[in-house]
Amino acid sequence: MNFKEYIRVVENFPEQGIRFKDISTLLKEGTVYKAAIDSLAEACKGKQVDIVVGPEARGFVVGAPLAYTLGCGFVPVRKPGKLPAATIQASYTLEYGKDALEIHEDAIQPGQKVVIADDLLATGGTISTTIQLIEKLGGQVVGVLFMIELSYLNGREKLANYDVHSLIQY
Ligand code: 5GP
Repeated sequence: MNFKEYIRVVENFPEQGIRFKDISTLLKEGTVYKAAIDSLAEACKGKQVDIVVGPEARGFVVGAPLAYTLGCGFVPVRKPGKLPAATIQASYTLEYGKDALEIHEDAIQPGQKVVIADDLLATGGTISTTIQLIEKLGGQVVGVLFMIELSYLNGREKLANYDVHSLIQY
């Protein structure tokens, strides 16, 4: 299936000069959404996966159905202050300023095998920070999956030590 034709490119969102890749046009097509998740599940074939981690918010839309398909657990990674129980935090630098992500400190047990899923790989900042959180808890990242990869931003270089797979490339 040609997934790319279901992505809507929105000019100048959220800022002037950005060409935003909108996945909502893919998600609303049931057979295409299912095929995309099945294709990501296929990329996990032969791997033991205990947990799928998805960063808020579009990582939930990719990660949760992937976890369901694989029959494993789902763990959310969220912006600070959103998770109710005890968390650990890691921060990352943005173009202007800093941001941070959190995970529940009991969400992953040492040695568990983890796949990360998100909608899009841009610079790799979100996923590098997510990896830090998982590894702090002793989880082993066995794969990193995206619907979309913006190859020209070289996010993959930041993830050179990991098995990275994407369905659509720009
Ligand atoms: P990174 O941390 O790799 O620079 O940015 C990736 C994060 O930003 C992802 O969590 C993704 O949801 C969001 N993001 C950045 N640009 C886009 C875009 O064009 N389309 C979508 N859907 N998400 C984007």
